[in-house]
Amino acid sequence: MSKPKLDGKVALITGAASGIGKEAARLFADNGAFVVLADVQDELGQKVAASIDRERASFCHCDVRDEKQVEEAVRYAVEKYDRLDVLFSNAGIIGPMTSILDMDMDGFDDTFLTNVRGVAATIKHAARAMVARNIRGSIICTSSVAGSLGGAGPHAYTVSKHALVGLVRTACSELGEHGIRVNCIAPFGIATPLSCKAYNLEPHQVESNSSALANLKGVVLKARHAAEAALFLASDDSAYISGHNLAVDGGFAVVNHSFSAI
Ligand code: NAD
Repeated sequence: MSKPKLDGKVALITGAASGIGKEAARLFADNGAFVVLADVQDELGQKVAASIDRERASFCHCDVRDEKQVEEAVRYAVEKYDRLDVLFSNAGIIGPMTSILDMDMDGFDDTFLTNVRGVAATIKHAARAMVARNIRGSIICTSSVAGSLGGAGPHAYTVSKHALVGLVRTACSELGEHGIRVNCIAPFGIATPLSCKAYNLEPHQVESNSSALANLKGVVLKARHAAEAALFLASDDSAYISGHNLAVDGGFAVVNHSFSAI
């Protein structure tokens, strides 16, 4: 039998109480990792951790908007499991759904506080822990198709996800020297509480909207697909991949069907 992809590795996952983060926590643990689930939803996060395996998964409260809490979460992972190999910085919010003409500037700042500053704080503290222990770690962030396209999400969200791609590239530029890889995944619309609440849709409606707009037909995009992309980037299967933005969108962001309409 082949070795599990994350055999004995320690992973910290933010936004792990729900959606993509929850799915990644299960998948990483199934692949041999010890997982620290970090989130602001304590009850839900504890439930998810307990449903995985008490030996392999634990929950830690962490609001990524508060740098101290981020530092604490990294310390918790290192003290509990003795090291940190993987950061999946996935927590994010959709932010205000307003027209640019009515831009809610406080909502804009809030979106950046979580989606950009929050992720930057997780990279800072996770990378410090890795560098201090000489660990050739992997850092993965969750961007979006809205990180490379306009019109695929609300304004503040789109700007924040573009910024996140820049954050990944600049972190990659410095951390490569330490053998640390930094990448992001860019999913298309997945039925999670984030997308269902934002658009006031049932999960099956989010899925049928994505399927209708998608380039790749015959597959329904699930949180599992995003988690599998994160697992690939976390594992040695992607040993020479860094600074990459891995689309999990069935070709949505790179195909325009105007020619086939001629
Ligand atoms: P989700 O709502 O199911 O999960 C997001 C989790 O992040 C929640 O558990 C929430 O409590 C947590 N969170 C929010 N703010 C936080 C904070 N300040 N500190 C710590 N945790 C916080 O949504 P999801 O769809 O799984 O979202 C995960 C990531 O995927 C987000 O970054 C989102 O932007 C991105 N994404 C989602 C989609 C989609 O269609 N669902 C598409 C592309 C990218």
